[in-house]
Amino acid sequence: MLVDTILSQNTSNANSGAGFRQLRRRFRTWNQVSDAPVQEVERHIRVSGLSRIKAPRIQAILNQIRAERGKIDLQFLTDWPPQRAYEYLMRFKGIGPKTANCVLVFSFGMKVFPVDTHIHRIAIRLGLIDSKTNAERACELMTPMIAPKDRYSMHILLIEHGRKICRAINPKCEDCVLLDLCPEGKRRSFPRCDPEFRATVGSRVIASPIISNCRSTADRSIRSEL
Ligand code: SF4
Repeated sequence: MLVDTILSQNTSNANSGAGFRQLRRRFRTWNQVSDAPVQEVERHIRVSGLSRIKAPRIQAILNQIRAERGKIDLQFLTDWPPQRAYEYLMRFKGIGPKTANCVLVFSFGMKVFPVDTHIHRIAIRLGLIDSKTNAERACELMTPMIAPKDRYSMHILLIEHGRKICRAINPKCEDCVLLDLCPEGKRRSFPRCDPEFRATVGSRVIASPIISNCRSTADRSIRSEL
């Protein structure tokens, strides 16, 4: 999962998945990846992009884990509290808050909340965070807004929402179930409307309606694909 998440940086799911599969087909163990010539690792992950940066990074991280723990295995993190595990992962060059939190939630089921580019954008548009807030700070601010049991599903649902509805360019506000909660959506949908009216209608933003509305959006998207 750690390597998969590093490969997913700055590329699409399809490309990172293809790079990961190629790497695993060529090398049967992480020890082999760690010990291989860097050019060979780079060649097999090229489809994931930035391979000249990612290959030496992956090898350095694998080497460091083996040097510190005696083997390339992160299972020991299972018994650690999330904050300690997060700080451990953040020590590695090339691992930022999103990567660390993705590893913790997807590999270890910890109740953390990774903020990716979609979630960051949606949170700003909804007015949950200020437009100048960076993704790391957004993660700190948003995590306590969401009940621990909802953090995994909220992460998945908001990414789905960002890909299909609240797109970076031309968001589909007219189809969005969050429109009546969203200042940015109202600004885009009712550009000539009195700003005070828009602000008043948009003042009900809390996490639970977002979760249920996102579920409706995801349900609708899923249904439309059936
Ligand atoms: S109303 Fe528009 S800007 Fe707001 S969350 Fe929905 S798609 Fe995004």
